[in-house]
This record gives sequence, C-alpha cells and structure tokens, in this order.
Amino acid sequence: MNIVLFGIQGSGKGTLVLDLEKHIKFSLISMGQLLRDEVATGSELGNYIKSIIENGNLVDINTILKVIGNKLSNNNGIVIFDGFPRNKEQAEALEKIAKIDLVLHLNLSKEQAVQRILNRLTCEKCGNITSKLDAKSENCLRCGGKLKVRTDDTLEALNKRFELYESETYPLLEKYRAQGVVVDIDASKTPSEVLNIALKVIKNEHKN
Ligand code: AMP
Repeated sequence: MNIVLFGIQGSGKGTLVLDLEKHIKFSLISMGQLLRDEVATGSELGNYIKSIIENGNLVDINTILKVIGNKLSNNNGIVIFDGFPRNKEQAEALEKIAKIDLVLHLNLSKEQAVQRILNRLTCEKCGNITSKLDAKSENCLRCGGKLKVRTDDTLEALNKRFELYESETYPLLEKYRAQGVVVDIDASKTPSEVLNIALKVIKNEHKN
C-alpha cells in the first residue's frame, strides 16, 4: 500500500512520520531527509544538492530518482512518501513505479505554517522536530543529537519554497482528488490528534 503525505512546509509531515513509526510498520521515502543525508556525506552529488536546497529550489528528477534508488524494490508492505511528488513531472515518474492508494493532505494555512517554521528546530541526527518555544536544551529529546535551525528555514528560502508549493505541488491535489484517494486532515490540530486521525484512515484503508 502506497501513501503520499501531502501538505505545505510546516504542516507536520515530518512529525507525523516520526509518530506513526511508534504505531505501524512502514518503509519511508522522505525526500528532504534522503537529500539531506546525501548532503551530509559531503559527496560530489551531496554538494550539488546542497546548493539547490539552500536556495529553496527543487532538486531535478534524475537526481531524485538516483536518491530513491532501490528503496521501493521488494516492498509489499506500507510505503510512505514524504515530500514526493512535488510537481507534475515527479507525479508522472511515481505513477510509473507505484500505484498511490492514499494521499493524506495535512491542511494548514500559510500564516500558521510560517509561524511554525520560523520557530522550528530540527535534530541534525534523526530529523526530530521541536519548537524553539518548547525546547529545553540544545539536544534532541529523542536521540540526543544537536537541535539546529535548518539552513533552508530562512524567510528568503521559505518564500521560494512556498511559491513552488503553491505553483507546482498544490495543483497535484486536484489530480489525486479525481482519483478519489485524498483524505484531508486539519493540520492545525495537535500532533496526537493528527496522529490518531491518520492511524484510523490508514488502518481502514489497509483492511480494504
Ligand atoms: P523538505 O524536507 O521536504 O522540506 O525538503 C527540503 C528541500 O529538499 C526542498 O526545499 C528541496 O530543495 C529538496 N527536496 C525535497 N523533496 C524534493 C523533491 N521531491 N523534489 C525536488 N527537491 C526536493
């Protein structure tokens, strides 16, 4: 079963993934994290990706497909895509390799998303997300890694990322709605409320 997590930056996709991991088994294709992992290796490919991410742009499809690699092969359980597809070209590439059964749309206003992102700290080791308003130390409560402001969580890169979301990513919802696979979730709810709704929907879908 293939699930796409859909939603504006800051809508809680990363948090939901980490919460879901405590309840169900799935393979995760978290595009942003996979790309950041490649950047952290300092490889030639990583350095190339770094400059694109820091400008708030989208990484090209060939690089994306290289990074997804064989993550999909031999998988007959639940696969969750986070941050992919982000445009028409990627949706078409995905269609060729996987049937999408469910799109969970975390629906949040841009104003709320900006507030969350400008306050967010991300663990450089496990990707766990904390708000500056709640953080009690410089280290992640989950794994002890260092909490940092993501290099693309600046107002400048954010404007570019939102612009791309609105022009290229959001329109994909229409296509998925026409396929009858979209479930909208109010992402302004608390993480545990969002988790409970998502779990219910996934379990229900998985039964069918
Ligand atoms: P995210 O962690 O999902 O906010 O992604 C961070 C950055 O990684 C994005 O702003 C892009 O530069 C890059 N990225 C993530 N997913 C994709 C994708 N599907 N296609 C192209 N670039 C991506």
